[in-house]
Parts: sequence; structure tokens; C-alpha cells
Amino acid sequence: MRNISIKFFIIFMLFAFMGTYGLIFNSFVKEAKSSTEQLLEESIQATVLNLKHFLDKNLKKNNINQITASLDNSINGNALIQDLHIVDKKNKKVIYATDRDTVMQHPNTNCIPIAQIIDADIFNEQCYSFSLKLFKQFEPYYYQSYVYLDKNYLDSLLQNQINKYNIIFIGYGLFFLIIIWLLLKKVLVNPLEKLRQFAYYQNNIPHEFFIQELESIRYSLSLTFARLKKEQEELFKLSTKDSLSGLYNRLSLMEKIEWLRAKGERSNESFALLFLDLDNFKNINDTQGHEFGDKILQHVSKVLLESVRENDIVSRLGGDEFVIILPELTNDETVLEVVKRIQTRLLKPAVFNSVSYSVTVSIGIAMYPKDGRDAVTLLKHADIAMYRAKALGKNNFHFFTEDLDEEIHNKLYIQNLIKKGIEKNYFQLYYQPKVDIKSNTIVGCEALIRLFDPQKGMIPPDKFISIAEESRLIIPLGEWIINEAIKQIKAWKNTPFEAIRLSINVSGIQFQNPDFITSLHDNISNIDTSKLDIELTESVLMNDFDEQFEKINAIKKLGITLSLDDFGTGYSSLSYLKTIPFNTIKIDKTFIDDLEEESGKSFVNMIVGIADDLGMEVVAEGVENETQLQYLASIGCEQYQGYYCSKPLPIEDFEKLFLDKKCP
Ligand code: C2E
Ligand code: CA
Ligand code: CA
Repeated sequence: MRNISIKFFIIFMLFAFMGTYGLIFNSFVKEAKSSTEQLLEESIQATVLNLKHFLDKNLKKNNINQITASLDNSINGNALIQDLHIVDKKNKKVIYATDRDTVMQHPNTNCIPIAQIIDADIFNEQCYSFSLKLFKQFEPYYYQSYVYLDKNYLDSLLQNQINKYNIIFIGYGLFFLIIIWLLLKKVLVNPLEKLRQFAYYQNNIPHEFFIQELESIRYSLSLTFARLKKEQEELFKLSTKDSLSGLYNRLSLMEKIEWLRAKGERSNESFALLFLDLDNFKNINDTQGHEFGDKILQHVSKVLLESVRENDIVSRLGGDEFVIILPELTNDETVLEVVKRIQTRLLKPAVFNSVSYSVTVSIGIAMYPKDGRDAVTLLKHADIAMYRAKALGKNNFHFFTEDLDEEIHNKLYIQNLIKKGIEKNYFQLYYQPKVDIKSNTIVGCEALIRLFDPQKGMIPPDKFISIAEESRLIIPLGEWIINEAIKQIKAWKNTPFEAIRLSINVSGIQFQNPDFITSLHDNISNIDTSKLDIELTESVLMNDFDEQFEKINAIKKLGITLSLDDFGTGYSSLSYLKTIPFNTIKIDKTFIDDLEEESGKSFVNMIVGIADDLGMEVVAEGVENETQLQYLASIGCEQYQGYYCSKPLPIEDFEKLFLDKKCP
């Protein structure tokens, strides 16, 4: 359906109204005209009857001249009547009000008898007749009279009347039209236009409207728009802000970094990116619950915001990770000031659920453009620096350096290599002899692992063991080592190598793994467990002493012997030696290196003495020369291990060495 404007509709309605108004007015005019006509007719009838009466009374055959004058008077004084003709029976002129001097035969005009004037249309029929009955010596005779009305006068009378009505009609009509139009415009057309604009632009809320329906639309629209605006703002906030902390989220952080980068590129400005990670947050969450954790995060967010300038950017990446951008910063000192401020303020205890709590955070710092030219690199490098800060101990910070990056790359490379190596057999056990000093015979060996990178060749354990521990890959790797060692013990059964006791190194992470004992138990069936020795360092005992103590006892019950590795380097509490049933103490190489000094000698001497008292064997590690060996022999040390006899060797070489009895 074609739609029309309200303006057009109103104009149309006004015209329809005017049409009806015109019709009504027309009939009104007609009515007025006929009543005018009636009035005129009555007045004409009365005039004519008066005339007739006058003529009846005064008209005689012989006084025509006299009477003509008075007739003239009454006709001239009457605007309605233009003329009067009186004729005799033969239609011969008796009196003509006009054409008085001509003798005329009156034409046979169709005049209407005056009695019928009411039915006539006086504006068209202008001639009316009546007969006069005169007496001449009591003899009656008849004259006929014709009265002519003044057509011009009648027309002008009617016209005047109509003109008057027309003026009123058009005048009033137009007046009403304008008033109605103005009114409609004010209360309908304009408000509707305002509503239209409001609906389109949604600003400049119009003032209250007069018309109730329009007003309710306006009101609903303004409510709807206000709600829409709020929802829009909330949506925007949701998309840019982190809901828990109210800080910027990752998405808007990336945008801001991108913006700063673009700005920095133009103006050579630098900025700092701080990567923050709360220390032990997982612990807090696990022990105190998530709600408590959330409160901590909110507290940290607040402290961070309070610790930086207004145009610094604080964001939460998720979890307990935050990123702060400090724009327009060039030197490390200013960055450090902020770092210190944050760490000091976080350390101040705050109360959560009536528990007083302080938080520490590790911070890694990367600078634009020195440490990265895009958001991803900067974040990655700050993250690397943060990890280093964590490794340094909690509540620390670290700037990113290229070395760190290399380290991380190397770490990842090694991690992947270990994973692949377990599957693809990149690992191999080397064996270093343990030599009995008195008899100079090989009585045991230590299995030491080697990793063979297909590209880079052999990688020594100090390059990958700590990475394996950090990634917990040491657990599957450790299992592989135990399996290999047990295979070897089995292979040596009923051979000249049967007497060799094989030591394996077990890392703390591997030992603390709950499945360690069961998996060990499953593997050692069918071997002489007294041929297996496990080397542990003191660090194993640091975590939950009681539990580890139980495990050690379980291992001993299996018939496996235990060696305390690297003795003297760790916490070296002598009380361990008393409580824990180690079979052997391994004196660390650093003390053997020290044997040239008196202090070194007395330390080794002391340990050998204590071990003797406690009924433990002593193995000296890293013996490289005759002098060292001589001294060890002089103080009664039972065994040694070291390059003086041999480096760790592949199995065939070790077996050959054993058979050749080649130790000096
Ligand atoms: P560790 O348990 O103290 O092993 C002794 C280390 O001293 C070995 O280094 C050995 O080659 C080295 N060594 C022995 N005699 C001498 C010597 O006379 N001079 C010098 N300079 N060094 C000597 P390696 O094989 O590089 O192993 C280093 C460390 O890696 C080990 O120290 C041990 O902590 C760890 N490791 C090695 N293999 C394994 C393993 O299979 N499992 C676990 N968990 N750790 C292992
Ligand atoms: Ca060892
Ligand atoms: Ca050692």
C-alpha cells in the first residue's frame, strides 16, 4: 500500500471537511435564497394588491390623466416594480407607466396571475397580471393590468445576498482551516517530525508532547534509548575490561600496546612493559578457596592502579597475571621506582575475611623498542624475564636480556629433545667404575645418563637434568633409567660382572612422585636387589621429611642399598646421617679437589671418621690423581670414583675395563 504523509492526510481531511462544509453551506444559501424570495413575493403581492385596491377605487374612464401621476409616484417609489400596463379588453393601452404617449396594442404576454406569485420564480418570471373590475353607471367592465418587476434590482438584491454569504463562507472557512491547520501542525505534525528525528539521531530528547499517545511514544522511546545506551556501554566495558578486576583485558591491552608502538615509531618514544605474576597464588586458591583468591586479585588490582600514574595502563591477562605499561619511560631507574613501589605496597598486609594477608609478586620487565617491536614479542620477553625473577626467589624482578631469551629457547629445545628422546631412544647409560681402594678392584659402578641429539651430538646431564626436573619429564626419564639399570643387572647375572653393584641416580622430583615405590617394586622382580644402589641427595629430604623417610625405609626393605650423594654441598645436617639408614656416603668432588689444603684434608678425614662410627661406607668422588688416592687410602676411605681410574664409559668399554682390571 502506498503510504502518505500525515501532512497530506490532514490536508486531504481538511479539503473533505471543506467540501462537506461547502455542501452544507450551499444548501443553507439555497434556503436563504428561497426565504428571501418568499419575503420578496409577499412584499410584491402586497404592493400589487395595494395598487389594485387603489385602481379599483380611483380608476374611472375619465380620470386617467389624473391617476397616472399618482401611479407614477407609487411605481417610482417602489424599486421592485419597473412598469405597469393597464389595458382594456381589446388589449389597447389605457395606462402605461412608461411609453405614456404611444398608443399601443398590448402584446399577448404570458404573465402570471398575481395570486400565483408564490409558486413562481420571481427571478425568472417578471410579469404578473391582475384584472380590474370597473363600473360604468353600474355596468361592470374589465381592464387587465400587467406589473413588470425590476429584474436588475431583483438580481442585484439576490447577488448582494449571495456575495454576503460567500464572504462569510470563504472567510470563516479559511479562518477555520488555518486555525485547524496551525493547531494540527503544532500538536501533531511537528511532534511527529521531532519523534522521527529523535528515533533517528537518538539525541536531543524532545520536550513533553500535548497529545497523550505521542507523549507515551516519546517517553517509551527515551526510556528505550537510555536503556540501549547503558547496555551499549556495558557491552563495551565487557569487551574491553576484565570483569573481576575492572582492569583492561588482554584484548584492549594488545590494542593499547599496538597504539603505543605506532606512536613510538613516529616519535621515537619508548615504553616499559611489566609482566607481573603473583607468587604462590595457586596455593592461596587451593587452600583458601576461589572466593578468597578473587578478593586477593581485586586487592592487587587496586594496589597496582594506585601505584602508577594516571596514564599508565594496568591490565589483567587472566589468572594471577597482570601487565602494566609505563609509557614515555626511557631509563631503568624510573621503572625500578615503580617496581619497588608495587612490591612494597603489596607486602603491606591487608585484611580479607578477617585474615591478614600480604602478597608478593614476581615482575619481568621488557622495554620498547629495545626488547621487542610488537606486542607479542614484548609480552613474551617480559614473561621470560618474569620467570627468571621467580627462579631468583619470590618477590623479585628481572629485566629481559638477550641471554635470557637464548636460555629460554635452549630450554624449550632441550625439553622437546627429552620428550622425543624417551620415545626414540636418544638416551644411553654410561658407567663409571667404583674402585675398592685397598684391593684396587672395581666393585661397583654408577650409571650416568647421556643424551644424544641427532643434530648436536652428546649432551651432558648437567645441561638437561634440571630442565627435565623443571618440566617433570624426569619422571618418565627416571623410569627409563631404572629399567635400563635393571636390564643390565639381569644381563650380568651368571657372568663375571655378577658381583658389580650398580648405582643409579634418582632425582628429588622422581623420588617424591607418589608412584615411585610401586613402580620400583614392579620392576625389581627377578633380580638380586642387593646389586642395586640408589643415590639420593639431601634435597630429597627437604620436602615432607616424614613421608620421604618412610619411602627410604620401604626401599631398604626391598633390599636395595642407599647412597647419600654429593655429601657436604647441601645443608649437610649430620643428624640426617644418624636418623637415615644410608649405606654409603659419597664425598663430593669439591672436597676431593680441596685435599691439597689442610682444611680440605681435615674435612674429609672427619667425614670418613663419622661414617666409620655410623657403620657406613665412604666413596670419594672425582678422584683425579695419585696424591688424592694416596691420602684417601691413608685415612681409611673404602672406595673411590674418578677419572684417575676412568671416565663414565659405554657399557662395552666398561665391561672391557672391568675384565682388564686396568685401574692404576
Ligand atoms: P653426580 O651424581 O655427582 O655424578 C658424578 C659426576 O661427576 C658425573 O658427571 C661424573 O662424570 C663426574 N665425575 C666423576 N669423576 C670425575 C672426575 O674425576 N673429574 C670430573 N671432573 N668429573 C668427574 P656427569 O655424568 O656429567 O653427571 C652430572 C650429574 O648429573 C650427576 O652428578 C647427577 O647429579 C646427574 N645425573 C647424571 N646421570 C643421572 C641420572 O641417570 N639420573 C639423575 N637423576 N641424575 C643424573
Ligand atoms: Ca651420583
Ligand atoms: Ca655426586
